[in-house]
Amino acid sequence: MVRGTGVSEGIGIGFVHILKEQKPVFERHSITDVEKELEKLRNAVGSFVISTEKLAEKLKNEAGEKEADILNGHIMIMKDPVLTSEIEKLIQGGECAESAVEQICNMFISVFSARDDELTRQRAADMEDLKDRLIKHLIGADDIQLSTLPPDTILCARELTPSMTAGIDKEHIAGIITEKGGETSHCAIIARACGIPAVSGAEGIMQLVHDGQKAVIDGATGEIILSPDEETMELCREKKAQYDESVSILRSYKGKPTLNSDGEKYSVLCNVGNAEDIDKVLSGDGEGIGLFRTEFLFMDRKKSPDEQEQFEVYRTAALKMQGRPVIIRTIDIGGDKDIPYMEMDEEDNPFLGLRAVRYCMKHPDILHEQLRAILRASAFGDVKILVPMIADIGELRFVRNMTEDIKKQLSAEGKAFNENIETGVMIETPSACLISDILAKEADFFSIGTNDLIQYTMAADRGNSDVSYLYSVFKPSVLRAIKYTISSAKAAGIPVEMCGEVAADRLMTPLLISFGLDSFSVSPSSVLAIRREISLYTKEKADRIAEAVMQMSSSEEIKEYLVQNNN
Ligand code: PEP
Ligand code: MG
Repeated sequence: MVRGTGVSEGIGIGFVHILKEQKPVFERHSITDVEKELEKLRNAVGSFVISTEKLAEKLKNEAGEKEADILNGHIMIMKDPVLTSEIEKLIQGGECAESAVEQICNMFISVFSARDDELTRQRAADMEDLKDRLIKHLIGADDIQLSTLPPDTILCARELTPSMTAGIDKEHIAGIITEKGGETSHCAIIARACGIPAVSGAEGIMQLVHDGQKAVIDGATGEIILSPDEETMELCREKKAQYDESVSILRSYKGKPTLNSDGEKYSVLCNVGNAEDIDKVLSGDGEGIGLFRTEFLFMDRKKSPDEQEQFEVYRTAALKMQGRPVIIRTIDIGGDKDIPYMEMDEEDNPFLGLRAVRYCMKHPDILHEQLRAILRASAFGDVKILVPMIADIGELRFVRNMTEDIKKQLSAEGKAFNENIETGVMIETPSACLISDILAKEADFFSIGTNDLIQYTMAADRGNSDVSYLYSVFKPSVLRAIKYTISSAKAAGIPVEMCGEVAADRLMTPLLISFGLDSFSVSPSSVLAIRREISLYTKEKADRIAEAVMQMSSSEEIKEYLVQNNN
């Protein structure tokens, strides 16, 4: 067995088809008729654009608008006057069109490849794709044809460009294996959108396979089984049937409201950490953003994003969510999240130190800038403020007072914002839980952060495996904390969501329904599974389970009971 990285879930069973590298070959030569060469370039660009438009249209129908935009992006790059004028300059200097295209594209490729961030490196792959295809249009060579493949093809390639992936015969492809690329490569994005199992980063696979060889891939685990025996094949077929069935069940929940068996409504929102994640909320069918972890916008850079930069990201989120909630958490640094340029002092107990709202109170300028950006973005959608690590009412009042001051400033400046913007409190410390009745009088909503609530309730570091036996949501103390928090919110008539990992734990769903949770905020890939899970319980059934669980004394007993009573 060989292993790569699973980048698109599903089991692919079929026969290997090796994609031979077909880089365009041309002879570099100097030219004398510049006008003729420029004309050749213009024709090639024209036919490149037409063929790419066709591919984008095909991809739009097979995968979706967002995926088609990858190829529309190639057309935009191609039409970029900077790129074409640089190529034309070389031609005017006597270079043949093929060589001019190669040199200019290579220049951009080396700039993009040198960057640290994955997205810019992805642009280098896009440029490489564009370069090879444009040169092929210049020399009149055909694009690699993957539009008609034999049935049950496991396509094996060193790398697949976006245009090749878009052109694949979707009916006959059973799986994709590539040596290069990762989860964020455009090949992986398109494969996921089309439901094609795919494994990337399978170094050396091209040397191990031959055309027509039987192969099975698991796009979740990254496993590749070559020439499996009949017994293994049988197991894989069963696994595939199970997987395919679960996918089609989950798909039936796409675009549907989240209702329990009694028809009561819930929301399944998503957790995001950056601008790119916002699209995943849409493709995952999330009903809004339940937690925007803004500290990630401050990481991997040399200085903080200023108000305008933050405003643009938050506004994009608000616009893309089209009126659905966008809950933006103020920066949560400290603890294990260090940002070097923020010069945080060494602390003996960072998780109990200057973290999140505490850091913001010591550095009010950072909070002020962020709240201004959030308030300005609130003019573009249902944006809300969420404050992390609250342990005391004074912290909430500090943020609310600053928000009111900023509203006055923005009004004076004539800038738009939502006067009634809501401010919520994260319940992630035992103190916040114990005073949740007090907090509920001054907060517009609660969001339970179970990742920290478990850690602080059990006094067990969430990252320390030596105490992981204590770090469990099924501990009676943690369950009581969750139940009490929700009951405080209900008593005060404010909504309550959960944004920690527990929200996506299906064993917990009946308890959360019974306690009265309104919204679940999970990663985009968990939306449909949680929507389905909620649909399987009546309130009465959830109450019966919760009643039994809340009588139990150990997490082992509770977990076992929940496993047995899981649908
Ligand atoms: C939590 O504590 O549950 C939470 C969502 O916050 P974070 O994981 O970012 O600390
Ligand atoms: Mg937290």
